[in-house]
Amino acid sequence: MQMTAPRLHERTARLFAAQLQGIWQRVDGLFAWLMVGQWVFAVGVAWTFSPYAWEGKVHAVHVHVQTAILAGAVISSLPIMLAYWRPGAALTRHVVGLSQMLWSALLIHLTAGRIETHFHIFASLAFLAFYRDPWVLLSASVTIILDRFARGLLWPESVYGVVEAEWWRFLELAFWVVLTDSVLIAGCRVARREAWETAERRAEAELAHEQKVHSQEQALVRAEQELREFQQQFSRMEKLASVGQLAASISHELRNPLAAARTALSCVLLRVSNLQGALTDSRILHCLDVTERELAVCARIISDVLDFARERPPQLAPCALRPLVDEVVGVVPQRAGVRVHNTVPDSLPVPLLDRELFRMVLVNLVQNAVEAVPPGGNGNVRIHAEGGDALPWRIRVVDDGPGIPEEVLSKIFEPLFTTKTQGTGLGLAIVSALVHKHGGTLSVNSQVGQGTEFLIELPAEALARTA
Ligand code: ADP
Ligand code: MG
Repeated sequence: MQMTAPRLHERTARLFAAQLQGIWQRVDGLFAWLMVGQWVFAVGVAWTFSPYAWEGKVHAVHVHVQTAILAGAVISSLPIMLAYWRPGAALTRHVVGLSQMLWSALLIHLTAGRIETHFHIFASLAFLAFYRDPWVLLSASVTIILDRFARGLLWPESVYGVVEAEWWRFLELAFWVVLTDSVLIAGCRVARREAWETAERRAEAELAHEQKVHSQEQALVRAEQELREFQQQFSRMEKLASVGQLAASISHELRNPLAAARTALSCVLLRVSNLQGALTDSRILHCLDVTERELAVCARIISDVLDFARERPPQLAPCALRPLVDEVVGVVPQRAGVRVHNTVPDSLPVPLLDRELFRMVLVNLVQNAVEAVPPGGNGNVRIHAEGGDALPWRIRVVDDGPGIPEEVLSKIFEPLFTTKTQGTGLGLAIVSALVHKHGGTLSVNSQVGQGTEFLIELPAEALARTA
């Protein structure tokens, strides 16, 4: 999950809108109370002040008191209702602005256009600026200017306190209102920018937190998966270990009787071949041949199982690779059409290896490579090595056989996995375990139709020794 610019902008806009919404609702509430307060105030003013303001010195309940009660109630009721039912809505703000201006007009009317009462207009505009909405200031200003214009023409006494006034006198008020508005609108813009910056900082923090939680969750999921895989692998290994132990002890017990049987059989074969002419049934010789071949397979299986189960730490000693590979090539059963090339340089430094164990590694890899070439086909197997002089050792066994399909490749190191009718599936498991015992790694690279390369990498330090 990335903290991209559109995501940040979208989150900031959401937080900003929520912040403004909160402000609008709070200011709507304040104005609702103000409407009530103004109404009480206006009635008070009408009661105490207006009887003298218009016509004379006699104190009597004047028509202004009724005006204040009625007009004030009308002006205040709509914004109060909207503040209650539709708090935060644009309509509510504009109605509040409009009503506030009507209040100014009413108060000015009640005080017969006193200069001081005009401050109500500017105080109201300042208060409306709490909405941080320039449009509210504009709608309110238009209202008061229109009122001034209309009443200046129709009823000048109610705004200027004089019977006659020039038509353009409303422009004086308009000028001051526009001036006030321009300052307040600039203030609104600054306040909105600050609110946006605050929202942006919060959005950044929230996204960073979400990102952190998300990556922690992912790490947890991965860890859980690894744990599950490890548990499965562990229980497989446990089963294999017990089966392996059983197989190893059975193999151990079988090895001696099998060797005795094979020796006895070769003895019988020798005698029988001398008697060949006298044998009436030629199938006897065939059966003995089959018996010998199958016993040889049993011997190979037993030796593989014992190699697999053997728990011997490697005993490192200088071991020249080229002669070792020559020996391996000699040991692996030949196959017609397959040529094995030892391309290990003569001059290669001599590593420290457990000769017997490493021979087993190479025998298995070379034998697999030879066996990979389909019967009747031609193929080449190359064993190459490099490294020494403080460089890691890299030993490759490369063939140009059919390669290993992807679905097989993931399983070839599992013990007992084989695709051969007479395979034990233990060869690569043994190789892998022995390479690890030498502190190295074994990897495979195979292309179907082109061939396979097994690569053994051994660390330079532990095993290097210059010849
Ligand atoms: P086995 O040789 O008894 O089958 P291994 O563990 O030695 O057991 O090999 C496992 C499997 O890996 C083989 O059965 C074969 O399918 C595949 N394999 C190993 N080496 C090669 C190779 N060089 N080319 C193609 N397949 C290979
Ligand atoms: Mg094998």
